[in-house]
Amino acid sequence: MYMLPKLPYDYNALEPYIDEQTMTVHHTKHHQAYIDKLNGAIKGTKFENMDIDEVLKKINDVPENIRTVVRNHGGGHSNHSFFWKVMAPNAGAEPHGNVGDAIKHTFGSFEKFKEEFTNAGLNRFGSGWAWLVSEHEKLSIMSTPNQDSPIMEGKTPILGVDVWEHAYYLRYMNKRADYLAAFFNVINWKEAEENYKHAMKK
Ligand code: MN
Repeated sequence: MYMLPKLPYDYNALEPYIDEQTMTVHHTKHHQAYIDKLNGAIKGTKFENMDIDEVLKKINDVPENIRTVVRNHGGGHSNHSFFWKVMAPNAGAEPHGNVGDAIKHTFGSFEKFKEEFTNAGLNRFGSGWAWLVSEHEKLSIMSTPNQDSPIMEGKTPILGVDVWEHAYYLRYMNKRADYLAAFFNVINWKEAEENYKHAMKK
C-alpha cells in the first residue's frame, strides 16, 4: 500500500514562483489520486509492497490486465514523489558540485542546459514531463508523455519538471514558458547533486 509522502516544505513555501493553491491541489488531490488508483490496481499482487521505482523498472513484468494502470498511476506516484524533492524554497541559482560540473561538461554551459531543458518542456505536446537523466554515467535531456518515467527506460532522473497544465494553469494560465522560467528559481540543486551521486554509483 502506497502513501502520500509529506511535502518537505509548506504549501506556500515556493511562492511567488509556484503558488500555494497549485501546490495544495497538486499534492493533496492529483498526487493522492494517483496513489489511490495505484493501490486499487496492485492490491493482492506481489507488487503491493514493492518500492514503486522497482515496479517501474520491471513495468513489462506487471500483469497485462493492470499494466496500464500501474504505468499511469505508479508513474504518477513516482514522478510526483521525485518532483516535490527537486524543488525547495530559497533555492534555484546555478548548480555547484559534481552535477554543476557535469552539466557544464555535457551541455557547454549552464545557460545552454537551461535552454535545452526548457525546450524539452515546451515541446512536450499535451501532458508530460521534462527530465535531466543519467544513463551509463552520461547526462542527457529527455521528455516523457503522460506519467511515463525515465526509470521505465532504465534511466535515472536527476531533475524533472511536471508540464501537465495542472502544475501551472492557476497562476500561469496557458503560459508554460513562464512557468518553466519560474521553475528555475525553485530547483533544489542539493537534491539533484544527491540524485547524480546515486546515479554514478549504479
Ligand atoms: Mn502533476
